[in-house]
Amino acid sequence: MNAKPSSLGLDHPRFLVELRELLVGLRHHLEEEKSLGLEGWPRSSPVNSMLFPMKKESSPAAQPASSSTLEAVREELGDCRRCKLHPTRTTIVFGTGNPKAKLVFVGEGPGRDEDLQGKPFVGLAGQLLTKIIQAIQLSREEVYITNIIKCRPPGNRNPEPDEINACEPFLIKQLEVIRPKLICALGTFAARTLLKTEERISLLRGRFHQYQGIPLMPTYHPAYLLRNPNFKRDVWEDMKKIKKEYEQL
Ligand code: URA
Repeated sequence: MNAKPSSLGLDHPRFLVELRELLVGLRHHLEEEKSLGLEGWPRSSPVNSMLFPMKKESSPAAQPASSSTLEAVREELGDCRRCKLHPTRTTIVFGTGNPKAKLVFVGEGPGRDEDLQGKPFVGLAGQLLTKIIQAIQLSREEVYITNIIKCRPPGNRNPEPDEINACEPFLIKQLEVIRPKLICALGTFAARTLLKTEERISLLRGRFHQYQGIPLMPTYHPAYLLRNPNFKRDVWEDMKKIKKEYEQL
């Protein structure tokens, strides 16, 4: 025979108060975890409806990115060992700038200076990128700067497909969190990775493409400009188009 709640003391006022306190504490804990991008119980769990009785399931389009802050994405990346670059890197170069940037620059991967300092585009190519950003009346602090891969390839060689594949999910998450209005892809690897094409940068640059509904301008990489200054004119044309779009945001 089933025991009645009263015979177990489950309807005793002190028990009910303690149960309520427990549930409130648990709820705070879950909300804290959720704000860090950590999932609690599955959405369908009866525990969820017990703790969040008033909350309706939102439609998939309204659901936030799996990690809701850049800090949470960085935390998920952790001390990454997902590809063969980790033994030779000094620092993971995640990205810097405004987490609410309207414009995001995506480069290829860290070089020597970036690997040592932990920040993207701080070497010679970085100084040129800074000037390019300033030329459209913006600052590095207003935009966000990151790379396709977050660890330096030995000797600055090109990133390899397995390295790009391992790192790309984190770039995708960064862009999901920032939700920029414009993206500038710097160089072949950034443009090809984001646009899922094998096309040459010389044919891609100069016009906006779409990345997940966001206008994306591919242009030459600043390091390429250091070796081929004649192409600075093309980059300036691309930047003027970005500036025009930016001003209309
Ligand atoms: N080149 C890149 O693509 N990214 C950097 O961060 C530095 C140089």
